[in-house]
Amino acid sequence: MKKESRVFRAETKELLNLMIHSIYTNKEIFLRELISNANDAIDKLKFKSLTETNILGEDTNFKIDITVDKDNKTITISDNGIGMTFDEVDENIGTIAKSGSKLFKEQLEEAKKSEVDIIGQFGVGFYSGFIVADKIVLETKSPYSEKGVRWTSDGTGEYEIEEIEKEKRGTSITLYIKDGDDYSEFLEEWKIKDLVKKYSNYIRYEIYFKDEVINSTKPIWKKDKSELKDEDYNEFYKATFHDWNDPLLHINLKVQGNIEYNSLLFIPKKLPFDFYTKSFKRGLQLYTKNVFIMEKCEELIPEYFSFISGLVDCDGLSLNISREILQQNSELQAISKNLEKKIISELEKLLKNDREKYIEFWKEFGRNIKAGVQDMFGMNKDKLQNLLIFMSSYEDKYVTLKEYVERMGENKEILFVSGENIDMVKALPKMEKLKEQGKEVLILTDKIDEFTLTAMMNYDGKEFKSINSTDFKLEEDKEKEEKIKKIAEESKSLLEKIKDSLKDKVSEVELNNNIGNSASSLLAKGPISLEMEKVLADMPGAEMNKAIKVLALNPEHSLFEKLKSAEDSEDFTKIVDILYNQALILEGFPIDNPVQFIKNLNSLIK
Ligand code: ADP
Ligand code: MG
Repeated sequence: MKKESRVFRAETKELLNLMIHSIYTNKEIFLRELISNANDAIDKLKFKSLTETNILGEDTNFKIDITVDKDNKTITISDNGIGMTFDEVDENIGTIAKSGSKLFKEQLEEAKKSEVDIIGQFGVGFYSGFIVADKIVLETKSPYSEKGVRWTSDGTGEYEIEEIEKEKRGTSITLYIKDGDDYSEFLEEWKIKDLVKKYSNYIRYEIYFKDEVINSTKPIWKKDKSELKDEDYNEFYKATFHDWNDPLLHINLKVQGNIEYNSLLFIPKKLPFDFYTKSFKRGLQLYTKNVFIMEKCEELIPEYFSFISGLVDCDGLSLNISREILQQNSELQAISKNLEKKIISELEKLLKNDREKYIEFWKEFGRNIKAGVQDMFGMNKDKLQNLLIFMSSYEDKYVTLKEYVERMGENKEILFVSGENIDMVKALPKMEKLKEQGKEVLILTDKIDEFTLTAMMNYDGKEFKSINSTDFKLEEDKEKEEKIKKIAEESKSLLEKIKDSLKDKVSEVELNNNIGNSASSLLAKGPISLEMEKVLADMPGAEMNKAIKVLALNPEHSLFEKLKSAEDSEDFTKIVDILYNQALILEGFPIDNPVQFIKNLNSLIK
C-alpha cells in the first residue's frame, strides 16, 4: 500500500504558523470549521447521488458524530460524506490553495495592517485544528476508491499520507488536544455542546454527541418567523457567509402559491473585501428538496445587488440541474424577479423608516445602486430611482428625488452641481445666489453621480440641470439680459481678442451675469459636463471625451472693467490668463501653468 511522507508547501507552512501564533482568543472556532467541512462533504455526496444512484450504498443516514476520549485527550469528528481519495487528500489537505484558508491569509495580512481583530471570525478551514491540537489524524474513504487514506501531521512541517483499510465511507478527524488548562476544557461535554449551539446549530445534518442530537437541524429558514430572534439570524449569517459583522438587514421570505420557496437574504454592513476582485462571485445558495445544489447561483440576484448574500430553498425545482439549464429555468427567473422586488421594497421601507440606517447602507452600497441605474441605458431606472439619495443644499442633508420634487414648486428643473466635496461646492458664488432665491440644489460628490442622472434623463418628468451648464440661468430678468446682450455686442472685438489669447483652451468666450459674484467661470456646453470630463480623463479615449468649455465673464464685475481698459496694454494677456485660471480653480481643475500664473499675478499686484 502507498505510504508517503511529504513536507507542506512553503505557503501552507507560513499560514499554519500565522494561525497558530495569532489565534489566542478564539481557539474554539476549530470545531465550527471541522463541522462545516463535514456538512459540506455530506452536501457534496447528496448532490452526486442525484445522478449517481449507486453511490450511497446502504449508508444513507447522514450524520456527523463527535466523540471525546478524555484519557487520550482526543476529539474526533466523523461524517459519512463524500470522503477523499489519496490524491484528493494530498491536494486538499496538503496545500493551502483552498478557498477558506487562502482568504483567511489575505484577511490576516489586512487585519495586521489595520490592527483589527478578525481572527476567529473567519472561515479558516481545516488547519484551524492545529490551534488546539498538536497532532491531527484524518482518515477518509471516498466512494470512488477501494482503499481508505490516513493523513497525519503535527502541523509543523511534514505530513504523512498512506493507504489504509477502511470500510465505511466518509471522513473522521481526530485532534490530539494540546496540554494545558487553556485546552483541556475542549474535552468537556458542556463545552462541546456549547460550541455546537453557538456556531453550528443550524447545520442541517444531525450532530451526535454521546448518542444525543445536539443541534437544531431544522434549517433556520424553515422555522417560523416568530421563533427567531435577531441573534439567530446574525449568528447564522456570520457562520454561513463568513462575515465577522452582523448583517445590516435580513429579509426572511416565505412564498406560497404558484412557486413555493423560502428565502433568507442578508445585506451586509460592509462590501465584501474582495468585491472588486476577480475572485468575487455573486449569487445565492440554492437548495432544493433539502439538498444543497450550489453555493453561488447568480441567476437569483441582479448584478446591482451583488453584495447581498443569502439562500433560496425551493422544492419545486427539478433536480438534474446544470448551469445551462439553470439559466433558462423559468422558476428561477420568477423567484429572482420576486426577490428583486422584495429587496427594493425592503430598502424603500428602510429609507422611509430609518433614514440613518439607510444612509449607512447608502455610503457602502449606493454606488452599486447608481451603477444599476446607469446600466443598460437606464433600463432599470424605474425600479431603482426611488432608492437614490443625494446630498442637497436643503438643510445640508440627504434627500430623495421625490422629496426634491415635492419641494420644487414652480421650478421646472431639478438642479444639481458636481464637485469634489460639499464645502467646495457650497462656496461657489452661484450657490449663494440660489440659496437666496430659495432654490434647492443636489450636491453630487461621487464621481459617478452625474452619469447616473444622465442615464435617467429625468425624474417624474422633471429634467436634471447642472448649474454649471451654459444654458442654466440664475434668474429670469429680461431687462438685464438685454443689457448684457448690448454689452456683448459692444465688446465683440474684446471677446474675440480674449478668445484668441486663450487659443484652444476654450471654445467660446461669453458674457454672462448668471455666474454669481465671481469675475469668471467655466461652463460646459453639450452632453459632457466638466465633472464628467474629470472622470473620463482616467479612461481610454479621454481625448475625445472632453467637455466643450466656455469661459463666462461677468460684465458686472470690476475686473471686467479692468480688462476693457487694459485691452491695448501689455497687461491684457495676463489678466485674461488670471481670469481663465481662476475659473479652472473654482471648478476644481488644475491650473495649466502655475508658474506663469503666479508670475502674472505678482506682476499685476506690483
Ligand atoms: P474549505 O472548506 O474552505 O474548502 P478547508 O481548509 O476547510 O477549506 O478544507 C479544505 C478541503 O479539504 C475542502 O475543500 C475539502 O475538499 C476537503 N475536506 C476537508 N474536510 C473534509 C471532510 N470532512 N470530508 C471531505 N473532504 C474534506
Ligand atoms: Mg472548510
